[in-house]
Amino acid sequence: MNILVVEDEPKVATVLRDTLYEYNHLVDIAPDGIEGRQKALENEYDLIILDLVLPYINGIEVCKAVRHEKAKVPILMLTALGSTDDLVKGFEAGADDYLVKPFEFKELMARIMALSRRSSVVSDENRILKTANLELDLDRKIARRDGVKIELTAKEFILLEYFMRHPDKVLSRNTISRKVWEIDFETGTNIVDVYVNFLRKKIDKAYEPKLLHTMIGMGYYFGVRE
Ligand code: CA
Repeated sequence: MNILVVEDEPKVATVLRDTLYEYNHLVDIAPDGIEGRQKALENEYDLIILDLVLPYINGIEVCKAVRHEKAKVPILMLTALGSTDDLVKGFEAGADDYLVKPFEFKELMARIMALSRRSSVVSDENRILKTANLELDLDRKIARRDGVKIELTAKEFILLEYFMRHPDKVLSRNTISRKVWEIDFETGTNIVDVYVNFLRKKIDKAYEPKLLHTMIGMGYYFGVRE
């Protein structure tokens, strides 16, 4: 993979670069927000690892700018311990996943695998999932509603795929955060709400029948309700 690392701490950036090289990834380093944004917009990356606290422009702004131009590139943000507000802002800005510094390299590689799984699918059955007039094309990574193409980010895609594979039942926020984000994190339920809102705006708001339903006090239900 071709990976951009936006990180101002030279030590962290160097360790990231050296280790990713060992796993045969190509790595570009940007030491501040301006260079990070420029590189991210000018080049095609398979993944962007983005520190949130950066000189000149912070990671949230970089994330927004990149997401505005590029709907699909997976963005993994790096945050300091205890910065929950930043985390939620990062997800709102379009980040797909996060890692708290200092992190284990094993954990970083697991996140990278999870985010890249999307772009390297192995062919199997059911390559197009359908619910009512919504279609999710797993090979071409696009959604269609009433035949209209809808661009999704990496995480929105994974979340929608999860819903479409588990229709017509109530899914708790905890279950969703565990299955889709693959970890139990305290703020997980907020993140689920943030992402369900993103998805709803894209795939449900302008269409009928409504498919993404909030079940008060229980979670979410995906499917056509009587
Ligand atoms: Ca930093």
